[in-house]
Amino acid sequence: MSVQKRRVALVTGGSRGIGRSVVTRLARDGYDVAFCYRSNQEAADLVAKDAEQEGAAVMTRRVDVADQAEAQAFVRAAEAELGPLDAVVSSAGIVRDNPLIMLSPQDWQDVMRINLDGTYNVCRAAVFGMMKRRSGSLVTLSSVAGVYGHATQTNYSASKAGIIGFSKALAKEVAPRGIRVNAVAPGFIETDMTSQLPSDTGASIPLGRFGRPEEVADLVSFLVSERASYITGQVLGIDGGLVL
Ligand code: NAP
Repeated sequence: MSVQKRRVALVTGGSRGIGRSVVTRLARDGYDVAFCYRSNQEAADLVAKDAEQEGAAVMTRRVDVADQAEAQAFVRAAEAELGPLDAVVSSAGIVRDNPLIMLSPQDWQDVMRINLDGTYNVCRAAVFGMMKRRSGSLVTLSSVAGVYGHATQTNYSASKAGIIGFSKALAKEVAPRGIRVNAVAPGFIETDMTSQLPSDTGASIPLGRFGRPEEVADLVSFLVSERASYITGQVLGIDGGLVL
């Protein structure tokens, strides 16, 4: 009797928030998972334990996705340890909010480098092997801010709009090789990133509440799977009706 080989996923920013839920969800879906984090090793260890309990082989690494060499080394190490990548989810991201007139060059650059350059660094390194194998699926994390813009988030909105352009262009580029690329655009999701927002923010959302990271992970799980085999180049909103 042949044992079915587990698929392999790589997730950036897997130690907390949406990335964390994606890691555990993909482990439950039958993936072995490599994920990276920036600084919070304790959080990463807990996620790795959860994913291992789902039967997954797990590789974790401290990586700054903004550093191209580090991102590439992470992708290569994941391929060497777990095998060829079937799915990549680029979730690592930060906010540094301020009105434009007060937005420092540092806060502009940090957000662009981690959110946009980080997505480029990881996807570029990962898509190489996928092109050779003529299969794979990539999911990037945009935001409603990237589609509609948020005041005090010119840096974040620009980075997330950039991710949409990047994902659509890459989708066209690699579709002939059987590789799919989609962007997810969440509204307000309950994570550390949104924990400082005023408590009445949920009231402005048609569904009356923030989304849960597991709800985003559910969409990502669908997008990387064969169930989404004819979906590419899309921006999937998951925002409780925020942008209606
Ligand atoms: P979060 O809870 O703040 O978690 C961010 C994750 O990214 C952490 O695992 C963090 O690692 C990692 N990270 C940060 N900088 C990194 C770097 N330079 N290199 C590698 N990893 C790094 O964020 P989240 O709310 O889950 O957001 C995840 C993604 O969804 C982001 O791209 C965000 O822009 C997007 N998004 C979120 C929302 C929302 O409402 N939460 C809405 C729309 C879009 P450490 O734990 O080590 O710091």
